[in-house]
Amino acid sequence: MINKDDKIRCNSKATSRRNFYNISFWIGLLLMVALPLVLSAQQQDALYIPSGSNAFMYPGEPIPENEMRVTIFGSGYGYVRGDQADQSIYVELGNGDTFMFDLGEGSEANYMAMQVPYSKLTNLFITHLHMDHLGALPHLYAFGPSADRWTPMNIYGPSGDTPELGTKYMVDGLKRFCNWHVTSFNGIAVPESDGYEINVHEFDYKLNPGIAYEKNGVVIKHFPVAHSIDGGVGYRLEWNGLSVVIASDTRPTKFYYENSQNADLVMHEVGPDPGVFAETMGVSIERANSMIASSHTLPVALGKLFSLIKPRLAVATHILVNANTVLPTVDGIRKYYDGPLVIAQDFMVFNISKENITQRIGVGSGSPWVHTDATRTDEPKYKKDNLNSDYILNSVILPCEETDDKDCY
Ligand SMILES: [Zn+2]
Ligand SMILES: [Zn+2]
Repeated sequence: MINKDDKIRCNSKATSRRNFYNISFWIGLLLMVALPLVLSAQQQDALYIPSGSNAFMYPGEPIPENEMRVTIFGSGYGYVRGDQADQSIYVELGNGDTFMFDLGEGSEANYMAMQVPYSKLTNLFITHLHMDHLGALPHLYAFGPSADRWTPMNIYGPSGDTPELGTKYMVDGLKRFCNWHVTSFNGIAVPESDGYEINVHEFDYKLNPGIAYEKNGVVIKHFPVAHSIDGGVGYRLEWNGLSVVIASDTRPTKFYYENSQNADLVMHEVGPDPGVFAETMGVSIERANSMIASSHTLPVALGKLFSLIKPRLAVATHILVNANTVLPTVDGIRKYYDGPLVIAQDFMVFNISKENITQRIGVGSGSPWVHTDATRTDEPKYKKDNLNSDYILNSVILPCEETDDKDCY
């Protein structure tokens, strides 16, 4: 939209060649040449989506040393779906560091499809303790050490209003939940290692921002969100002059706004369109509105928030991607926001550098072998060959005992 001042400026450009001698003409020309040099990267760059075979990323691709790579391994919520896992974001840095943000049900299969070794999955940052953000944790914790994660997991997460609502309490329960598995695997399927140790880093959810992690040039800040009950947080990861903000789930908040300033990739949840939600779930439109607005962010409100933040790239996530959900969501966001926008889907990959942001789709296998880190050279040592008692061992029969078949035992 052109306002009155724009019209005056446009008209003045066309008036006369005498402007060539006017000082304001030269100032204008100077600004046209110099402005791109002083604009921030955020203002200059838009999302680049390659075409053809370059639109895909295949497992094992190295990361350029100055880039950050963000892969969406879970973009959905709540309801288990074959095509869309619950929330999980994987951040890899050019210095070799890797971080998971949430670990929702189904997401582990997507990590495996892209052949991410378990040894890279040691640092988990939890936004809140809803199970669409945690459902895959017990399995990943239990099976990592029988692959190649032989070091402790580091789990970072918020406190709650009582100790029983905090991350530490959840991890205590996780260990109890997995006790039979760990006891049975340790020493026979899992070599001697610290793989089943967990270092819990619980922090005060109210801090804005607090520092959850600071190491090797990487800073991960946390800030409170407004979702369900108190105790949820969002994160901002900063490294090498690049930054990504991850917060699901939340209503729009000033904390999020403050912590998203000048970020490169800004992810925010979006609630479903209330009309679609009411129809799909069989509830009234009033009920749908109150359910979404009490804990989540309506598409129109998210569009307004993005328009205020002006991120280099905005990503809306936590939406079930269906024919009847995406269009109303985009329409809602576009009411106020016309900048670079992506609706998250599983396997989306973003390479972020100071120069540009590239979006591709990861192409993996639905039937992968577990991938282990080929650079590891030390030989694992196993404690035992057998953990069963004589009582159980004596029940074992050898069906081929009376034959000469050495392959049957
Ligand atoms: Zn959620
Ligand atoms: Zn939630």
